[in-house]
Amino acid sequence: MKYVSTRGAWHDDPQPFRAILLEGLAPDGGLAVPQQYPRFTAAELAALRGASYAELAVAVLSRYITDIPLVDLRGIVETTYTAATFGSDDITPLSTLEPRVHLLHVSNGPTLAFKDIALQLLGSLFEYVLRDEHRVLNILGATSGDTGSSAEYAMRGKRNIAVFMLSPHGRMSAFQQAQMYSLADPNIHNLAVEGTFDDCQDIVKALSGNAQFKRAHSLGAVNSINWARIAAQVVYYFKGYFAATTRDGEPVSFAVPTGNFGNVLAGHVARAMGLPVAQLIIATNENDVLDEFFRTGRYRPRGAAETHATSSPSMDISKASNFERYMFDVVGRDPVRLRELWRDLDRGGGFDVAGTPLWDRVRESGFASGRSTHADRVATIRDVHQRCGLLIDPHTADGVKVGRELRRPDVPLVCIETALPAKFSATIREAVGFEAPRPAAYADLESRPQRCTVVPADPSAVEAIVAQHALAAGASATQRQRA
Ligand SMILES: *Cc1c(COP(=O)(O)O)cnc(C)c1O
Repeated sequence: MKYVSTRGAWHDDPQPFRAILLEGLAPDGGLAVPQQYPRFTAAELAALRGASYAELAVAVLSRYITDIPLVDLRGIVETTYTAATFGSDDITPLSTLEPRVHLLHVSNGPTLAFKDIALQLLGSLFEYVLRDEHRVLNILGATSGDTGSSAEYAMRGKRNIAVFMLSPHGRMSAFQQAQMYSLADPNIHNLAVEGTFDDCQDIVKALSGNAQFKRAHSLGAVNSINWARIAAQVVYYFKGYFAATTRDGEPVSFAVPTGNFGNVLAGHVARAMGLPVAQLIIATNENDVLDEFFRTGRYRPRGAAETHATSSPSMDISKASNFERYMFDVVGRDPVRLRELWRDLDRGGGFDVAGTPLWDRVRESGFASGRSTHADRVATIRDVHQRCGLLIDPHTADGVKVGRELRRPDVPLVCIETALPAKFSATIREAVGFEAPRPAAYADLESRPQRCTVVPADPSAVEAIVAQHALAAGASATQRQRA
């Protein structure tokens, strides 16, 4: 399997998986996509029924990762998806809310959110490829809480990798802060910036925009547009599909809370690979750019001023990066046409495909969409708790609310649980009057010793720290010679 960019780069020189694993954007600003989606035949799908999570992961990932020997890939998968890390042998167990409506628990990893599924694999893949190629990677990132902790838990203790994570000093929840700052691994550097999340992002941009500094210190990122993250997420659509059906070929719909379009893109890919998916129901919160597109054909990303802070904060996104990969399929995988749309986006702030052949393709692609508000979240959390005795987090509640509204009654619905309720205690208390219980391993989280370096919101201060503590490629080369 080889990869091309959505905007045309690499079309004459498609890249192997390893080359796109450690890169961010393609050189033309586009995103890496496989040259085609590998398809499972009905017989191949039937043979996967009953497979373990790791077996499904190997079946799916080996179609995308063809430049790591299968035996090594199997080893990576088996050490990543363990009951010790994800709480059960099922990794992503399914429970039933009401007849034909299920909840797929993909949030039982170390940071209690679905991003662990992809990032834990990414950590293992990075370590493998870096060791194989005698390279080091210094990951530089900014977080307002969630993605950063997921990346730190994925990279802690990994050889040839260091993480420098910038977070806004004193602006995260006590839980989020403790989750990150209590990590004692020497390769994890928490930099608490005296400023806002935007300041953190600006500093990361400044440092990674300095090509010489970036090269000198082997800087990289763990971003939401990494293809390996999407491929890892495809696996739980397969797992959820088999768990919710008893008959081969029976269709299933999924309800997916959406921000950056990463999670639901994996559903779109799973369908393109042959999984019998009826509807992909996307749920936005008050930041409804994607709902607007799927209802009207108009895609109009918002500015920061128009982006609301909501009680499902991980979906407070105005521009959905992974949407570009979906639109690449809608335009028939034609990079020229894709570039035209994105040129309109950059020029006029949006595009509108209503009334064009593209709109027909969007409608045929099986998406449905809806929107959920704070009142909807609270009501849904309360209702699910009263009727099923289960607590769900606010993001999951957005998905359940919209999924119940738009589902076809005859098709089983799988709602994807994107975080555990313990992470969002204020909204849970508002809905049901008490705090969500925490997994036992987190009971004393806030009282563990914490460690971070407070830095001013100044790129040169951060630059100095990175320069001092970054892993150097030379060092590991020397170690090799000695070994
Ligand atoms: C990241 C995140 C989302 C949004 O997922 P996308 O892949 O960006 O669409 C939803 N819920 C939670 C809890 C998240 O952390």
